[in-house]
Amino acid sequence: MALETKRFKVINEGFKCENCAVDVPSTSGSTPRNHCPYCLYCKHVDINPGDRANTCKGLMKPIGVYTHAKKEYVILHQCQKCGGRVKAKAILGDGNASDNFDIILKLSSMPIDEQV
Ligand SMILES: [Zn+2]
Ligand SMILES: [Zn+2]
Repeated sequence: MALETKRFKVINEGFKCENCAVDVPSTSGSTPRNHCPYCLYCKHVDINPGDRANTCKGLMKPIGVYTHAKKEYVILHQCQKCGGRVKAKAILGDGNASDNFDIILKLSSMPIDEQV
C-alpha cells in the first residue's frame, strides 16, 4: 500500500490521555498515535496528522466514525475548545494498543452531522 507523500515531520509518540488518564503507548507501526485507543479522545495538536503544529491543544471528542471500503474506519473528532474537526484513521491490529472497537462500532452506527 502506497503511503501519502508527506512534507512535514511525523511524530509517533505516546502520551497521557486527558480524558481517561491512561498512559497511551506510541504505535508499533508507522501510523502516528493521535488519539487514545481506550476512549478515542484526542488533543487538538495537529494541523496535518502527526505534525503537532496546532496551538489549540483542546480536548477532542469522538463524534462519529466513517466506514470506508476495505474495512477502514475513520474517526471524526470535534474539539471542545475551538469546535474544529479532525478526521483520524482508526488504529486497529496495533502491537502496542488498538482502538476500542466497541466504541468504533457504536459511533459508526450513529449519524454524522456533516456541517463542518
Ligand atoms: Zn482516553
Ligand atoms: Zn481546537
